[in-house]
Amino acid sequence: METIKTRTIMTKSDQGNRWFGIDYHMNLYKGCPMGCIYCDSRCEAYHIDNFDQVKIKENALEILEEELKSKKYKGVVSFGTLSDPYNPLEEKLELTREALELILKYGFGVSIDTKSDLILRDLDLLEEIEKKNSVIVKISITTYDDELARKIEPRVISSTRRFEVLKELTDHGLYAGVLMTPVLPFLTDTEENILNMISKSSWANARFIYTKMGMTLRTNQREYYYNALDILYPGLKEDYIAVYGNRNICNTLQYRHLMELFLKRCSEAHILTDMDMIIRAYKKEIPQNEQMSLF
Ligand code: SF4
Repeated sequence: METIKTRTIMTKSDQGNRWFGIDYHMNLYKGCPMGCIYCDSRCEAYHIDNFDQVKIKENALEILEEELKSKKYKGVVSFGTLSDPYNPLEEKLELTREALELILKYGFGVSIDTKSDLILRDLDLLEEIEKKNSVIVKISITTYDDELARKIEPRVISSTRRFEVLKELTDHGLYAGVLMTPVLPFLTDTEENILNMISKSSWANARFIYTKMGMTLRTNQREYYYNALDILYPGLKEDYIAVYGNRNICNTLQYRHLMELFLKRCSEAHILTDMDMIIRAYKKEIPQNEQMSLF
């Protein structure tokens, strides 16, 4: 296992917290071993060489504690923007768990993206953090079909298990939902998939489902994805090239129809889909004097 040193760990969100109300981004691991064929974090803009070989930021927790102490605004810290914080190494290393302990100690909020059931190990900490600040969990699920998921997300637990994890989180009163990104043209962009995703999310009491009804295909990410398609679905790469050329944003060809269907069915199921509404629903205002009392 390779270790690296880091000089900083938290970066202020450059989207002015419009993405799920996140104020600070953080990745405790560099790279991710889960093998999703479409992973956007492989794109060259993120400069992660040998992406599937996860590296440990060995001084991450020391730096994190210093940074949490020095921040005046106790906002929401995102775990796992570029790497799943519950990758298989986490079970032994407990970097994510120790970071959550620090988040709790210094009174910050947390936003977690994961495809792993290991998050359930940390339910106790998430519940404690939620008493002081805000918690949102996004379970990443792209298809209800376990067989398809096994192909496109080869080292991830089944979609069925991910819906069960989501249910356990919401049963514990945590604000959690589904990140349905990407939607893969010609593979997961079917009415059947969208409707099943909504009904299974509803069963799990998902508070929200967020989707952009398409995918990104950027340099490095595109090559990896196309190589995987050549193995899994020979001939499909050529369909992508014919339709999307070198485009970086590739919306499904049925965008309008699927998005209308998605919005209608989610509304009927009382599942939020709008980013501003999701943020308003989970993110608490932490008054300044209350923040100060947490020092
Ligand atoms: S779990 Fe997330 S970060 Fe890891 S490979 Fe899959 S999409 Fe990429």
